Amino acid sequence: MKVIKNKSECRKIVETLKSGGNTVGLVPTMGSLHEGHIALIRMARKECSRIFISIFVNPSQFGPGEDYVKYPRETKKDLGLAESEGVDFVFLPPVSGMYGNNHRTFVEVEGLGKIMCGVSRPTHFRGVATVVLKLFNIIPAHRAYFGEKDYQQLVIIKKMVKDLDIDIKITSSPTIRESDGLAMSSRNRYLTQEQRKEAVIIYKTLKWARREIKSGEKDLKKLRAVAELKILENRNIGTVEYFDFRDAYTLEEVSFPPVHRKMLIAAAVRAGTTRLIDNIVINVKK
Ligand code: AMP
Repeated sequence: MKVIKNKSECRKIVETLKSGGNTVGLVPTMGSLHEGHIALIRMARKECSRIFISIFVNPSQFGPGEDYVKYPRETKKDLGLAESEGVDFVFLPPVSGMYGNNHRTFVEVEGLGKIMCGVSRPTHFRGVATVVLKLFNIIPAHRAYFGEKDYQQLVIIKKMVKDLDIDIKITSSPTIRESDGLAMSSRNRYLTQEQRKEAVIIYKTLKWARREIKSGEKDLKKLRAVAELKILENRNIGTVEYFDFRDAYTLEEVSFPPVHRKMLIAAAVRAGTTRLIDNIVINVKK
């Protein structure tokens, strides 16, 4: 496994690999690798002959007062894990290598970045889209892999790829969960023991909403209200930022379960200062 810090070296390697007939896969991460990342790496491993992961805690996707400074950084451990998973190349740039002193160009996927998580994190998705486009330019892989855990991010990246004619196939992998159902996240380590125990209510409530809809409930407003109450019964969960029912392709809000179209049920909550997100996608049949 080779660790690369330099952009032009990275690009050259990708060019050589491609001209040698390899299929190149990229898994962008912010490090602190867990089973969710590993699932993406394994998927890439199956479909590509050479794989890159990037490890970069991207400052432009953190808002003022967010956890950029305290975000976990475990490079040594990550490199060991990546190596044991058969990763070929790790792109590990310094912040100064990704953003010059006078960086002024950002990618905005209009509309999609301002809803859901974009309400409380108004500059988050422009930071994500910008760094992902930069990574795609530095590592012009054939395929790139993203988790459904960050569903809004996935939709935004797919839209950016389509709108900007980027020649990279985006593949997603289902959310990997702890044994009690909590979606794995590098931020779960911020939770106190009590918050951690109660955080399982997010997935439980998403599944409850799915059951209600599958058994014919049409009143999504009511479902949302009850879902919020169920979550807030847990004393260590302070706020429900949203509990939304949306079209899984466009992220438009839906008022009735759409028939024959996938629906996203997504939630964001705060337990203390920790923000947790989760979602499930359901098919509603007649
Ligand atoms: P991050 O390091 O948090 O930026 O995540 C890097 C990639 O891993 C993103 O595509 C995430 O959606 C994905 N990911 C994070 N957590 C999970 C999870 N629990 N299951 C599946 N994918 C995940």
